[in-house]
Amino acid sequence: MTAFSVVLTSIFVFFSGQLQAMGTTAEKHYAVVVIGGGLMGSAAAWQLARDGKEVILLEKQDREYSQGSSKGLTRIARSNNLGRDLWSYLHNRSVQETATLVAYLGNQGYDTSMSAVYQTTPVNYMRPLKAADAIVTSSERQKVDYKLAQTPEEGMEMFGVQLPEGVFLHREFNEHSGTLNPEALISLLHRAIKLKGGTIVYNASVSGIQRQGNHYLIASKDSQGSEMRLTASQIVSAAGPHTGPLLTELAPYMDKLITPKRVFLAFMQISPEKYHQLDDHARSQLKRAYPVINSYADTRQGSFYSMFEYSDADDNPVIKIGGHFQRSDINSLEDVWHQELSEEEIRWSIENTGRYLRMNGVPVNDEDLQLVDEVSCVYSLTSTEVPIVSQLVAPSGEMDSNFVVMAGMSGVGAKGAMTYGRIAANLLQGKSESDPGYLEAVKAVGFTRLKEDVDQLQVSPEK
Ligand SMILES: Cc1cc2nc3c(=O)[nH]c(=O)nc-3n(C[C@H](O)[C@H](O)[C@H](O)COP(=O)(O)OP(=O)(O)OC[C@H]3O[C@@H](n4cnc5c(N)ncnc54)[C@H](O)[C@@H]3O)c2cc1C
Repeated sequence: MTAFSVVLTSIFVFFSGQLQAMGTTAEKHYAVVVIGGGLMGSAAAWQLARDGKEVILLEKQDREYSQGSSKGLTRIARSNNLGRDLWSYLHNRSVQETATLVAYLGNQGYDTSMSAVYQTTPVNYMRPLKAADAIVTSSERQKVDYKLAQTPEEGMEMFGVQLPEGVFLHREFNEHSGTLNPEALISLLHRAIKLKGGTIVYNASVSGIQRQGNHYLIASKDSQGSEMRLTASQIVSAAGPHTGPLLTELAPYMDKLITPKRVFLAFMQISPEKYHQLDDHARSQLKRAYPVINSYADTRQGSFYSMFEYSDADDNPVIKIGGHFQRSDINSLEDVWHQELSEEEIRWSIENTGRYLRMNGVPVNDEDLQLVDEVSCVYSLTSTEVPIVSQLVAPSGEMDSNFVVMAGMSGVGAKGAMTYGRIAANLLQGKSESDPGYLEAVKAVGFTRLKEDVDQLQVSPEK
C-alpha cells in the first residue's frame, strides 16, 4: 500500500465514522463516477444516465468552463477525411447522438435545436494536388457531397479563389458539417444529465483514486480546500490533459502515452473601416472561405485551421486561426492557459490569414487585420493522434472492466465526442454494437490498441 493509499483509507474510515455518528449513511456510493466535465466526460455521463445508471460527474472548474481542451465556441466538424473512414463514422454518429439529446431535451420542455450545437456551412480543405485522387475516392466512400477544383482556372470558375498551382480546393457540403460549439454542447449535456437524475458537482477536483475490493474510493477537493469522499463501482476518467497526473497510481503508463501540448489561437477581425468598404461579393467570398483546413503548403509552417468564432453586431466575423503543427511543449499545466502569444505567433497568424483572404478575393492587407483576442489552449496528443477510449490495463496486464479512460483526444476529438461518450458507456456495461463503423472505432481507440501501446512501452521504455 502506498503512503497515499494509507492516508486516504484512514481519512475515509474517519470520515465514514463521523457520518455514522451523525446518523447518516456512512458513505455516498455511486454506480459510476465520471471525472471531468469537458466534452468527453459530459458525453459519457449523459449516455450512462440515459442508460439508467446512477452517475455523478465531478468537474474541477466552476460552472464557467475556462481552462480545458473544449474551451471555445467553435470546432471544425466534418464528415470527410482523406485518410480514414473512422473519422467520418465518429462525426456522423455524433450528429445522430446529438439529435437524440436535442429531442430528449425538447420532450422535457427545453427549447433547443441542432443549430444550438452545429452550424452547417461548407468546409474547405486545401491540399497539394497529389492527394486529389484520395479525396475523390474517400468523399465518395464516405458519401460526402462535395466540389473539387484542381487547377487555378477551376478554382476561379467554381469558387472565385486564386488557387496556387499544384493545389486543390475541396468543399464539403453536408448537413451538420461546418462547425460545432463545444461549450453549447457541454451545457446541453449537463442539463440532460441532471434531468435524467444524474448529479454534477462543479469545483470538485479529484485528488486521489484508490481501488478497494470491488469498488473505488475517490477523494476530491474544492478551491477552498474542502474535501469530499465517495465510493463508486465504476469510473470514467475524462480529465483531458490532466489524465497523466490523475492516473499516476492506477495507470502510470498513461503519462507516457499522452502528451499535453500548448496550441495557440489568435482571434482577428477586419478593421471596421475596411469591413464597411467590402462589397457584397467580397463579403460573400469571406463567408464561404471558412471554416478551412489548409495544408497546401505541405509544410508545418504553412498549415493552419481557421474558422469564425462569432460575428459582431455588424456581421463582421471574428476569425480564429491556429495550427496543429504550431503546437509546443508545456512547462506547467496550471500556468499555460495564461501564456501570451509571442510576436512571432501573432505575425504568423496575421500573415496566413491575410494571404488566405486575398486568395479568396477579399481585398484586405495584413494591416487591416486587428488582433482582438488570443488564447493558449491545451490538448493531449497520442503518438498516432488517434484518441484512447478504453478499459484500463491493470497492473496484471488484464482488463479492468470497471474503469474506462477517455484521453489523448488530440486536435480531432470534438467532432466525435458524442460517439466516444457512447463507446465509453457501452464498454463499462459490457455492451457492443454490430455496425462495422462502430466496431472499427472500438478497435482503433479501445482495449486491444491500448494494450498494444502499453506492451510497446515495456519494449521501449524510453518512449
Ligand atoms: C485549439 C484546439 C483546436 C481544436 N480543434 C478541433 C477541431 O477543429 N475539430 C475537432 O473535432 N476537435 C478539435 N479539437 C479537439 C477537441 O476540442 C478536444 O479533443 C476535446 O475538447 C477534448 O475534450 P476532453 O473532454 O477530453 O478534455 P477537456 O475539455 O480538457 O475536459 C477535461 C475536463 O476534466 C476536468 N478535470 C481535469 N482534472 C480533473 C480532476 N482532477 N478532477 C475533476 N475534473 C478534472 C477539466 O477541468 C476539464 O473540464 C481542438 C482542440 C484544441 C485545444
